[in-house]
Amino acid sequence: MPRDPLPLLHSTFGFPGFRGVQESVVTRVLAGDNTLAVMPTGAGKSLCYQLPSVVLEGTCVVVSPLIALMHDQLRAATAVGIRAATLTSVDTDQMETIARFRRGELDLLYVAPERASNMAFRELLTQAPLALFAIDEAHCVSEWGHDFRPDYRLLRPLLDHFPHVPRLALTATADKVTRDDILDQLGIPREGMIVAGFDRPNIRYTISPKDNTTRQIADLIAETPGAGIVYCQSRAGTEKMAEALARSGRPTRAYHAGLDPQVRARNQADFVASEDMVICATVAFGMGIDKPDVRFVAHAGMPKSIESYYQETGRAGRDGDPAVAHLFWGAEDFAKARQRMSEVEPARQAGERVRLQALGALVETPGCRRKILLRHFGDDAPDYCGNCDNCLNPPGAVDATEVAKKVLSAVFRTGQSFGMGYIEQVLTGVSTERSLMNGHEALGVWGLVSSADELALLKPVIRALLLRDALRANDFGGLEFGPGARGILKENEEVSLILQPKRERRGRGRSGSSAGTVANPSGDPLFEALRAKRRALAAEASVPPYVIFH
Ligand code: ADP
Ligand code: MG
Repeated sequence: MPRDPLPLLHSTFGFPGFRGVQESVVTRVLAGDNTLAVMPTGAGKSLCYQLPSVVLEGTCVVVSPLIALMHDQLRAATAVGIRAATLTSVDTDQMETIARFRRGELDLLYVAPERASNMAFRELLTQAPLALFAIDEAHCVSEWGHDFRPDYRLLRPLLDHFPHVPRLALTATADKVTRDDILDQLGIPREGMIVAGFDRPNIRYTISPKDNTTRQIADLIAETPGAGIVYCQSRAGTEKMAEALARSGRPTRAYHAGLDPQVRARNQADFVASEDMVICATVAFGMGIDKPDVRFVAHAGMPKSIESYYQETGRAGRDGDPAVAHLFWGAEDFAKARQRMSEVEPARQAGERVRLQALGALVETPGCRRKILLRHFGDDAPDYCGNCDNCLNPPGAVDATEVAKKVLSAVFRTGQSFGMGYIEQVLTGVSTERSLMNGHEALGVWGLVSSADELALLKPVIRALLLRDALRANDFGGLEFGPGARGILKENEEVSLILQPKRERRGRGRSGSSAGTVANPSGDPLFEALRAKRRALAAEASVPPYVIFH
């Protein structure tokens, strides 16, 4: 019978007790049962194998997907006196590590998944007692997961080669389908799954459409003291954002995989040490970073999936104090995601589609964000959380079905090739040389949108139709029908828009939009005409000009 783990929890790790499901996981592992632990980021998954590795005879082999992550883990384990080593291609002390393993002097041996297919490695593992296989980031084994890594598929034969060594799979981010798949792929029985609560009640989830993302994030920073992460869509984007936000007076840094490794490491270290720094990063940033006092995480664009969203926002407020997660999204993010989806192998498309729909539901909901998030992960959640934008400030809804039909008719009648601006001109009846040339004044849809209320809805409706895949933008920005158009035109499907008051702007000069005004860089007089018409109509609108669609 293994030793009682509690004294070791105090003496080795310095923790007063187990947290959440750690105890049940450790108990199963110590009893030699195969286990899948699904625990949110920051819940303390590492302890679930580190503690058994100290308690049990033999070495615990830890499979981890990233070398950087392994080295972080190694440092942390060594710091508390665990005998640990990594066996990776970049380690210069491989011979010494192998010798230590053979002498039974290692509690933990971190390896990359591709080792699994290496016969010399398999042979090595037979030369000393093994306590446990721990498979970190286990969702990588599933094609349903958001981060499939084919190398993880090499693990099963290795595990099966050592049938008496218990396995512990760990992940923070697995929906139901992915969990079931992990169990199958790694040969863990259904009753071996332990799922921790996913709720992070101190995080306030807020989601808004993009308007001027840099300004929106500058506003967020102005009202949110403390250190924060801004996730950007591209490497160049992180640098631009860091530069723009630096004007606010807050220290900022950029972080992406293309930076010089020394600069990157220094930026990360500066951030971890700082109490008010804003780090603008690609998603390469965050895994394995232990900074409990991150006060906000902003997304300048859609995350890859609801799992990534949960994981990335989960880096805020690990200390339990209030923190903010603010996502800014645009309809084009969804269009891009759909495009990417069509490019993945057919076998994975179904999973991608489900994931995209889940993200759409989160962004689109007039209801509680936390509910959608938690239920996605299979947690029970009440309808009201009291700490997300929609619960705190319930949005109103407006029926925009008629305007949506007008937009679709205009797109159809003009031949499914014109952009958003032109469709707007046609519907509001603003003549241009182009419309005259095309003879579009003669179409039945000309000037069909005449009331201020309808005009205010035009842009948001087009966004909503893009989001629903009722409209698609082609490579030249022209709008054409998507599969969702039929339901609205033929089956009386409703299109309702969510109204949410725009936040007060601070002293900064107004560059934003009202009633959908956009910048007119070329000083085009026709554009001015349209703008004037919009202004005139907006002045008498009863629908607030800031109507937006979620
Ligand atoms: P995960 O891998 O689940 O994201 P980690 O294993 O990195 O989480 O642990 C997150 C933090 O929680 C670490 O700082 C760790 O020291 C701390 N921690 C883990 N278990 C406990 C515990 N029982 N009591 C207090 N702190 C803990
Ligand atoms: Mg971890």
